[in-house]
Amino acid sequence: MLDPRTLLLTLIALMLVTGLIQLVSARQARDEGALLYWGAANFIAGIGILTIGLIVNRPSVGLMNLSFAAILLGYMLNWAGMRRFCYRTAAPAVIVAPPILWLALNQFPYFQSLEWRLALSALFATVWCYATAWTLYRFRGEELVARRPTIVWLLIHGTIVGIRAPLMLTQNFPDGATALASTFMTFGLFGAIIHAVLLSFLQLALTKSRADNRYRRAAETDMLTGAPNRRAFFDAAEPLVASAVRENRPACVLVVDIDRFKAINDSLGHAGGDAVLVAVSDAIAAQLRPGDVFGRLGGEEFGCFLPDTGLLTATRLAEGLRASIARLDLRFEGSVVRVSASIGIAPTEVTTDSLDRLLAEADAGLYQAKRAGRDRVVAMDVVFR
Ligand code: GH3
Ligand code: MG
Ligand code: MG
Repeated sequence: MLDPRTLLLTLIALMLVTGLIQLVSARQARDEGALLYWGAANFIAGIGILTIGLIVNRPSVGLMNLSFAAILLGYMLNWAGMRRFCYRTAAPAVIVAPPILWLALNQFPYFQSLEWRLALSALFATVWCYATAWTLYRFRGEELVARRPTIVWLLIHGTIVGIRAPLMLTQNFPDGATALASTFMTFGLFGAIIHAVLLSFLQLALTKSRADNRYRRAAETDMLTGAPNRRAFFDAAEPLVASAVRENRPACVLVVDIDRFKAINDSLGHAGGDAVLVAVSDAIAAQLRPGDVFGRLGGEEFGCFLPDTGLLTATRLAEGLRASIARLDLRFEGSVVRVSASIGIAPTEVTTDSLDRLLAEADAGLYQAKRAGRDRVVAMDVVFR
């Protein structure tokens, strides 16, 4: 059978070490404040359990109450960390209320038995598990790989602990170290170790997938306009081109290029040019449909991939884009700025089997649009407008 003292020691060491690791990582990843809460939670609860282990042979009621209060505080800090991770706050009064309530309850002799202590803290752990799972469940809008496993584990652990809670009262533990040696306690300790390992692993996975999301977004976003960059445009559009060609479905590529942008830069300065780029990028993005792919290809050139769109619809859409750019009411440092753009279109239907070729064909249209006087849409040698 597993030695309960070894288990207890393992649990304590585990919580103190993970607490320290999380506190150190919190110092490095300053934008992830949840780690600070989680580290402190593990550390404080670890000290609480350590104290229980130290006094198990020489029970001291006062220290025992404080140790359990420390464990409850650990739970609350863990919950507050999850709130923080989900961009919500946790009032300090709510965090310290359960430990204080606990110490108050301990003034009644009725609650001073080990059975009551364990039953109440188990019940508390269940409520905590469900509340923490709920916080994470309600948090939407960010894809986190570890989100669902964390919710599932919290529900499983909370339910197991909750079922055990009333059983605690039927245990009638002998005092001191012998209570620790009971099979019931051994299983409880084993479960606590698994929970401590899994939870800190899941917490780390949550923060890691958030950091990954951040890096990915930064790598895919054009810093000036906030639009997807060339790489992101290719990554999103290439598979769509392949499937359109394979399944013989229509699709079109647009290349939008701002007219005489060099002159805009010359007259407004680089900052003015930047402001025009942002406005044009926003104007295009606002007109596109949900499935369309958009990106800044470079300089003052933007790309759109329109899946399941024939040449006629694409031309109409491009004409709408051109008109909305020409209509832009831009002001820079007091003066009105007029902007126009030319657009080249290439459909998949005719010759094309790759995004590169589609873009080259759209570029050919664009070149013609420029030669024909700019501020117009050209597809496959046909000038519209
Ligand atoms: P056309 O009508 O034929 O398209 O003429 P154009 O002046 O727009 O074309 P060209 O490609 O010669 O000029 C593009 C200019 O865009 C050159 C470059 O200095 C400027 N540019 C590229 N990226 C940026 C940027 O991020 N910010 C600003 N302000 N200017 C940029
Ligand atoms: Mg240009
Ligand atoms: Mg250009």
